[in-house]
Amino acid sequence: MKLFKRAPFCQVFFSRVPLNTYLAKLVFGLFLSASGISFAQQAAPAAPSAPTTDDEMSKAILEKLQKSGDIVIRPSDLPPKPPPKAAAPNPVVRTAPKPVEHAHWSYTEGPDGPANWGKTSKENLLCSIGKQQSPMNIEGGILVDLPPLRFDYKLSPLTIQDNGHTILVNYAEGSNLSLDARQYRLVQFHFHKPSEEAIDGKRADMVAHLVHQHHDGRLLVVAVLMNSSQEASQAENAAFQMILNHIPLVKKESSSPNGVMIDLNQLLPKNLAYFTFMGSLTTPPCSENVQWVVLKEAAVISKQQLDNFSRIYPNNARPLQSRSGRLIKEAR
Ligand SMILES: [Zn+2]
Repeated sequence: MKLFKRAPFCQVFFSRVPLNTYLAKLVFGLFLSASGISFAQQAAPAAPSAPTTDDEMSKAILEKLQKSGDIVIRPSDLPPKPPPKAAAPNPVVRTAPKPVEHAHWSYTEGPDGPANWGKTSKENLLCSIGKQQSPMNIEGGILVDLPPLRFDYKLSPLTIQDNGHTILVNYAEGSNLSLDARQYRLVQFHFHKPSEEAIDGKRADMVAHLVHQHHDGRLLVVAVLMNSSQEASQAENAAFQMILNHIPLVKKESSSPNGVMIDLNQLLPKNLAYFTFMGSLTTPPCSENVQWVVLKEAAVISKQQLDNFSRIYPNNARPLQSRSGRLIKEAR
């Protein structure tokens, strides 16, 4: 496994392993000391019994992170480095660590709006100066034969969160996408309204971003466009409805309703022809080198489902970014 200083993903810090503040402090201390070295190199064998000391606890955490294989952490998501232990025998007055200050950003115009994301923090600089930023308008691609997408999605217990920017579902291990002899694990998915990507200048009602990660850390996001239909009885999408049903009442609290399983296959359209190109995360820190796969056929949802989502997030789409000469491939 590899940890990144800069995190993927549109929706950012995702972890299926809950880290309480105490554990996070320990991880962060090690993260800083590793300074570019992967945790795998530093990890020690598991302690045979329940950890009791700081050292044992940190070893146990490292092992857990390694096993998860998908955890991506950026420094700003972690608490500040704890003060070093006092070596001097004299009593030291310690100031409490400052609380983590997340760079606030939003989708509305203003100092923290999309035009200024790059100024909200040093680590978000790519949002301003990046050369392969997403989303972009998809047009003028070359028509070629593309390798098929092979989805192998299993049922997953539903773990859902309203993170203040979108509704996000973390997916259990074991669901994968294979493309061109590379396997990517489905990590999480979330939604934007309207769709961030446009095709020939036109945005869809919504989009689901299915975030995958290869074991080398590379990200691949599948965009499933979603369009609404008035014929509610036929158009209602079962997977999307389950998500709407279980959106937590409290923001930023992750919820795992007992016994509720989600099947993301229900959101995929029949035709899996796609566009592909390189891009970035569409939210800060706007990290690049993300492969995008945008399905040409949209999923169908009902008008009521669209209206429901809209009441929570009427507009959580980043404006279109410059293409900067990027190649787009389109399945012919
Ligand atoms: Zn997204």
